[in-house]
Amino acid sequence: MSATHEPAFDLEALRARYRAERDKRLRADGIAQYREVAGDFARYVEDPYVEPGFTRAPLSDEVDALIIGGGFGGLLAGARLREVGVGKIRIVESGGDFGGTWYWNRYPGAQCDIESYIYLPLLEELGTLPSEKYAHGPEILAHAQAIGRHYGLYDEACFQTKVTGLEWNEADRRWIVRSDRGDAIRARFVFMANGPLSRPKLPGIPGVERFEGHSFHTSRWDYAYTGGDTTGGLHRLADKRVGIIGTGATAIQCIPHLGAFAKRLTVFQRTPSSVDARHNRPTDPEFAKQLAPGWQQARMDNFNTLVGGGYQEVDLVGDGWTDVFRILMAAVRGEGAVDLSPEEIARRVELADMTKMEAIRSRIGSIVEDPATAEALKPWYRQFCKRPCFHDEYLPTFNRPNVELVDTQGRGVERITKTGVVAEGREYPVDCLIFATGFEVGTRYQRRAGYDLVGRGGLALSQKWKDRMSTFQGFYSRGFPNCFFMLGLQSGLTPNIPHAINEQAKHLAFVVAHALRHGHTQIEASEAAERDWVALIRSGEGRSTEFFETCTPSYYNNEGKPGEGDGWFGGFHPDGSEALFRLYREWRAAGRFDGLEFA
Ligand code: NDP
Repeated sequence: MSATHEPAFDLEALRARYRAERDKRLRADGIAQYREVAGDFARYVEDPYVEPGFTRAPLSDEVDALIIGGGFGGLLAGARLREVGVGKIRIVESGGDFGGTWYWNRYPGAQCDIESYIYLPLLEELGTLPSEKYAHGPEILAHAQAIGRHYGLYDEACFQTKVTGLEWNEADRRWIVRSDRGDAIRARFVFMANGPLSRPKLPGIPGVERFEGHSFHTSRWDYAYTGGDTTGGLHRLADKRVGIIGTGATAIQCIPHLGAFAKRLTVFQRTPSSVDARHNRPTDPEFAKQLAPGWQQARMDNFNTLVGGGYQEVDLVGDGWTDVFRILMAAVRGEGAVDLSPEEIARRVELADMTKMEAIRSRIGSIVEDPATAEALKPWYRQFCKRPCFHDEYLPTFNRPNVELVDTQGRGVERITKTGVVAEGREYPVDCLIFATGFEVGTRYQRRAGYDLVGRGGLALSQKWKDRMSTFQGFYSRGFPNCFFMLGLQSGLTPNIPHAINEQAKHLAFVVAHALRHGHTQIEASEAAERDWVALIRSGEGRSTEFFETCTPSYYNNEGKPGEGDGWFGGFHPDGSEALFRLYREWRAAGRFDGLEFA
């Protein structure tokens, strides 16, 4: 693009191409997009990392705080509650240890795609630093466990335990938390840290139940079958024909390992991901030496401001994420960018986006040798229509003679047979079929959580949220006192999820400490505060709906139906996550607890 902000390409032609690619994906055949992982499909979510047959006696004791979920959300809640002196804290977790998404997702090549110095929480508190700019799964899982040890969260933890329901007992203002282990634990406060993307989904492909070969979902990788471990070495695939369905952020990371070991790998693609360079590197010892106290929060804030479209003098992280925003923002902040109309701002951002995507597309052409494969791997949509991916080995994998890309032209796989996968009218026989098909987003909260809550006066959360979610600050929902929702509902959107969780955990710990200090036994949002908050969240929906309507379907736009229902986590604060975190800070500093009722 020139300094005059005129494109070096045909803008209208690109817009038309984007629309055409989106339209290919919009389905009118009535086939359900995804299959619920339940009933006959439940085996896809069994825990492969624990020995079967674990038993323990049911619990019926009382705790001060019960946290559902032992990922970074639960761990941060536990850590921050510890810091403010809350006594008995119990994390209930369905897996066999802490780690959450990093406990489950042990597929080969699993790696954080946000810089590890800002992604891994509590680095200063634990006095540690990741070994690479983008740490790999085992190190992240070990860090989660280290947090558990550091804050004494193992003492009361209940692993391999699924919460089945919660009920508010008005008489003594306690939650009764029931589980599949027969527990009936009494809790003063409960924290819902059950994860935004925790329920795996299978594709709604006809015949998916008929496949007689070996199959699994990436979030329950079967190393007994493939051999190797998270670092790779999948030697048992040497004589296997492997098929993988999905080319999202997970597939991008595991496909290079499959390509290196499988006799034959067939990648079934519906929509290509946008894959830019990663440039991972070991942590420089000099970097560690120059870090001053408070560096991690400052670095997280710096990144978050930049990826929220804000200004920072320096870009501390300096990676693919901040690069995209630097380019987009330069278009509206550079020379001559004064008094721009909203239309001109939108036009310039769109042009900058297209220029960046052109660069991503041309990079594919320079790496992938077969022109037809390179063409099929090119993403035709705006940068933030889907999660941007960064990887240095994904694209070269398609230069291997044993790897084939089957591009389904946005239609997806046609059907699955007993012995293989049918796409584009041809059957591809496979011994092993791997579903890299992601996680439920936008389904009912209770379905994803796996339990319902019964609040004051017998009100069920499923009933209250039957049409739309409703919270104050994304934390509280009236009728469900002392219950705090975490991880994204009607709060702030940021790609660095642990940052958002950390801000939430600090805030909730402050509220709980206040209640305990003043002898309050009940915390609840006022009706007016909740109503105003929901109105605020909805006020921003129009803008994002307009953008997402132009996008190819994904969980970002409610699979092509933006603006319908709750979509992505019930909406987000219209001014962005940095504004929301500032609001939390101001709200705490004011010490007035506006919007909350204590009893
Ligand atoms: P996604 O939902 O992003 O991807 C699912 C994939 O399955 C898509 O490529 C989708 O195609 C494909 N698919 C679904 N149904 C069909 C079908 N019927 N036929 C063909 N293809 C189909 O899941 P992921 O597990 O990849 O990622 C989920 C999220 O997890 C990411 O967005 C990211 O937020 C997070 N993540 C983060 C990582 C990190 O490093 N921090 C690493 C991995 C994941 P289509 O695109 O057409 O819908």
